[in-house]
Amino acid sequence: MDFSLTSEEQELQQRVRRLAEDVIAPIAEEADESSRVHAGLMSILAESNLLRYCVPKENGGYGISVTNLCIIREELARISAQADTNFIMQGLGSYPITLGGTPEQKAKYLPAIADGKAIAAFALTEPDSGSDVIGMKTTATLEGDEWVINGQKKFISQAGDASTYVVFAKTDPEAGSRGLSAFIVEQGTPGFDDSKRMDLMAAHPIGEPRFENCRIPYTNLIGEPGQGLRLALGTLDTFRTTVAAAAVGMGQAGYEAALDYSKNRELFGQHLSDFQATQFKLADMAVSLDAARLLAYRSAWLKDSGQESVIKEASFAKLFATEAASRIINESLQIHGGAGLEKGARIERLYREVRALTIYEGTSEIQRQTIARQLLRE
Ligand SMILES: Cc1cc2nc3c(=O)[nH]c(=O)nc-3n(C[C@H](O)[C@H](O)[C@H](O)COP(=O)(O)OP(=O)(O)OC[C@H]3O[C@@H](n4cnc5c(N)ncnc54)[C@H](O)[C@@H]3O)c2cc1C
Repeated sequence: MDFSLTSEEQELQQRVRRLAEDVIAPIAEEADESSRVHAGLMSILAESNLLRYCVPKENGGYGISVTNLCIIREELARISAQADTNFIMQGLGSYPITLGGTPEQKAKYLPAIADGKAIAAFALTEPDSGSDVIGMKTTATLEGDEWVINGQKKFISQAGDASTYVVFAKTDPEAGSRGLSAFIVEQGTPGFDDSKRMDLMAAHPIGEPRFENCRIPYTNLIGEPGQGLRLALGTLDTFRTTVAAAAVGMGQAGYEAALDYSKNRELFGQHLSDFQATQFKLADMAVSLDAARLLAYRSAWLKDSGQESVIKEASFAKLFATEAASRIINESLQIHGGAGLEKGARIERLYREVRALTIYEGTSEIQRQTIARQLLRE
């Protein structure tokens, strides 16, 4: 067994760590409190060519390696949740095109996403259908050589700022899991309104796009009619592992904040870190962080090594890492005492930001359900 990153991966890790600490950190608080895609961050991500890791080589990218995506997410999320979101949505929002798009669709949309000229979004969730994807109500009906889309989406990251949306809709309401299809919808298409925004506990660029008789050419269908669920699940199978890496980055930031604060806070004539109760908390944090990191990179490595599906391993990683990061950050805030609750404190922001991770891309309950199904099948 070899647990080390390759020299190229280590180089990438060092480069992104320096970028995050030196260039992103000074604007992180302002960017993280903004509920729009942050233009300054997007240009930093584009100019440093990081977005190219979200796109295949033949379409202007560096090729998609889940390990590289994990390295980048871990380092960005440690410093700025918004940088992490802006980065990964270019991959998540474009991957159905990478997976099932025609050469023309790939040539038209992917290079602009790789160099940051286009912003991508992935529109699956609806007001009445999150975990229950097949319960979605948005429809796409074929009229001549056009698809007509009607319905509403909710919780769509980057909505309002994105230019290229992959939208999932029902093309055959009677066909259950085979009745969903995926489409490319460009911002500004008549009948498509992406102006409605959402305000979350921790600022996140997110909105509720609506479709009212929105007409798009037949050729904006990705793959064949009925392949929508396969494309959505194929995308999530690749990207779910990277949520675990983002959780590791946030957990690392929470752990570092606890370590730093406890070594400097003086009380009862000692440092907080001198008390065994604090030391045990720090030890538990470090162990669960390491376990989370191992699960995330094991899943990434399996996927990159060609294992056809990493459904179980990705769910292990996502479930454990996001819950571990939540626990670590909660304990870190406790170590900070009242200072941890003050607006502007790094740990206060992390406490709000980490909460979404056990919910998006499959809640913890859905991960447990997925794992159990795999176990019972095995
Ligand atoms: C910050 C953020 C960003 C997001 N970005 C996107 C995006 O870009 N694109 C997109 O399409 N979506 C996005 N989402 C939506 C996200 O994927 C959904 O919120 C998630 O899938 C859960 O769906 P829901 O909110 O409708 O909850 P529900 O599905 O209604 O679940 C409610 C509760 O019921 C539980 N539950 C569900 N099924 C079961 C079951 N069978 N057994 C037991 N318990 C169950 C859930 O675990 C949860 O606790 C985002 C969400 C957030 C918070």
